[in-house]
Amino acid sequence: MELTNAFLLFGEASLYFFVMVSLLEARHKIGLGVFFCALGVMHFLETYLASVFYVALPFGVISPGSSVLFSGKLLMILLLYIKEDAAVVRQPIYGLLIGNFLIVGLVMILRNHETLALIEGRSPNFSFIDEMGWLMVWGTTLLFFDSVGIILLYERLGGWFRRHPALRFLLCGMVMLTFDQLGFYFALRYVSGAPVDVLFGGWIAKMAAAIVYSAFFLIYMRVSRTTLPQSESLGTSDVFHVLTYRERYEQLLEAAARDHLTGVYDRGRYDVEAPRVIDKNIRRGYPVSLMVIDIDRFKEINDTLGHSAGDVVLKDVAEILAGALRGDDHLFRYGGEEFVVVCERLPIDGALSMANRLRRRIAETVHTESGSNVTVSIGVAAGPDDGHALTSLFKTADARLYKAKQEGRNRVCGNDGVQQGQMILATQPVT
Ligand code: GH3
Ligand code: MG
Ligand code: MG
Repeated sequence: MELTNAFLLFGEASLYFFVMVSLLEARHKIGLGVFFCALGVMHFLETYLASVFYVALPFGVISPGSSVLFSGKLLMILLLYIKEDAAVVRQPIYGLLIGNFLIVGLVMILRNHETLALIEGRSPNFSFIDEMGWLMVWGTTLLFFDSVGIILLYERLGGWFRRHPALRFLLCGMVMLTFDQLGFYFALRYVSGAPVDVLFGGWIAKMAAAIVYSAFFLIYMRVSRTTLPQSESLGTSDVFHVLTYRERYEQLLEAAARDHLTGVYDRGRYDVEAPRVIDKNIRRGYPVSLMVIDIDRFKEINDTLGHSAGDVVLKDVAEILAGALRGDDHLFRYGGEEFVVVCERLPIDGALSMANRLRRRIAETVHTESGSNVTVSIGVAAGPDDGHALTSLFKTADARLYKAKQEGRNRVCGNDGVQQGQMILATQPVT
């Protein structure tokens, strides 16, 4: 009979591991939610079994709920961390903790109902909560610490066991399951005076589970040819704050939207973001301004000093513009040497004085490599007066830019014509 039990336990562990790992492996196709839900559902069975379902093995009495399912889950959490990252693994850890507390809380309320028996002999019975309610609370609290602990330990062992992932996995499992068994046993002893055999029987079963699961893990790694990310070992304090893949992905997206030369948002980002920003402000009844900024006689710079000298000027202009923006301003490189700034909640007079500030700062600080001053002309339009959408605002601002160019460049043109640009620049001699 004891041998049969051992076989059955092995079968349970195999089935559990195979199904859960298949879900994990399929996450890119079906989403991680499937794995998470399966993990969550198993938790209920596991807690129930741990509280009432015990079988005999040669070395003592054990519960499949805690040796097979609980150990399996903890190692699944570690596996999830290995495959994904801290930000992902945090989700089931918190979900399980909160879900279990929620069950207990709800049952506390539910059991106050006067209920009806619809079918003879089948009356609702919440005594399961008496049997396992405390275990749900204590078990998941313990699981929370186990999960954090196993991940920290895994990272700590990284330096020594980088080449032996299965051994690293096994060691983490053994240490944390030992910790868990102690925590579990002392609670059990406190509640039901469980004999010390339960501590050892359960501990041996958990160690056996760690060995079996690590062997499965090894096979799985071989089969799926998983290469572990060769990340640096992390400090123990920052496991949940590591730069996650998701953050890296967002950074990548952010970088992809930027123009390589100047580092400001590119035309693609402009096409997506500028209409959105304008629409949002107009809908909320805020003024919103748009400026088109064009470098004066830029072709000449290219023609006389070469394209790379032109590139340097472009970078310098972009830097001045980017440095002068408020939090609610959005700068884009619209085309060759043209930039657009969209300013949220800024009416036309504010935009005109800002445009003049920008114009003056560029004229004073940007020079070509031969020492000549670089200037810009700016056309300004503001919604809702000049239009409600990007196209109309841009068209107006662009027409005003043209006017500023016609009037002699190094000027700003707004709703009342070209108003500024009186500053006379002493052009430096070409060296
Ligand atoms: P205006 O004062 O009328 O604006 O004169 P402009 O010479 O600036 O006029 P235009 O808009 O015709 O010239 C823009 C030039 O910018 C043409 C193009 O060769 C150059 N250009 C566009 N993109 C880049 C770039 O990335 N690097 C460099 N160096 N030049 C560029
Ligand atoms: Mg131009
Ligand atoms: Mg130009």
